[in-house]
Amino acid sequence: MNILIFGPNGSGKGTQGAIIQDKYNIAHIESGAIFRQNIGGGTELGKKAKEYIDRGDLVPDDITIPMILDRLKEDDCKKGWLLDGFPRNKVQAETLAKALSDENIKLDYVIEIVLPRDVAKIRITGRRLCENDNNHPNHIAFDAIKPVEKDGELVCRVCGGKLSVRADDQDDEAIDKRHDIYYDENTGTMAAVNYFKGLGGDTRVISVDGSPSIGEVTDAILKELK
Ligand code: AMP
Repeated sequence: MNILIFGPNGSGKGTQGAIIQDKYNIAHIESGAIFRQNIGGGTELGKKAKEYIDRGDLVPDDITIPMILDRLKEDDCKKGWLLDGFPRNKVQAETLAKALSDENIKLDYVIEIVLPRDVAKIRITGRRLCENDNNHPNHIAFDAIKPVEKDGELVCRVCGGKLSVRADDQDDEAIDKRHDIYYDENTGTMAAVNYFKGLGGDTRVISVDGSPSIGEVTDAILKELK
């Protein structure tokens, strides 16, 4: 099963993505997480990407597109994949659609988590990153994924690992810029969503309201995934 998942920063896209990849045992490919790993590891790619990420800008397409298309060729993707954070603009959407069609790879589902911009913004600042595993979502405002306290410190609710905050999640300008890009229907991420909605064929588009609880959003998605 091959899936694209869309949603503004703060919509719970990563949380739902982790649940879906676990249930269907497919590869969870998060473009933002790949960049953060490269920044942490001090690689050339990480060095190039950092300045864009800190500002909330998109990393240029000539870096991002080959990085993701190469990642999709890795062995673990043969069992299916969930792509999260890519495509982020119309050019990426068109390039991905062409690459899949050239390789005869079917895109089964496009999931869109719909959330108003003001709600998404409030949610961003409370999320915490598990340093051991990117698929361990933690958020200080949601009981279902609240970090736990250990020795007076908040740690990952799944593995007890150290938690960190993303610098771009605490920077008001960077948050606004990321949302400007997401909600832009001309060339931004909503243009990519609409591109896939208009493609037709046998890709199914699932749009769910991201405002209820995590469990309710999961149920709404899983009910549509066959
Ligand atoms: P995310 O973890 O999805 O919020 O991504 C964090 C940051 O990584 C974004 O604000 C961008 O700077 C960069 N990034 C992630 N995915 C993409 C993409 N598809 N195209 C360009 N930049 C991206």
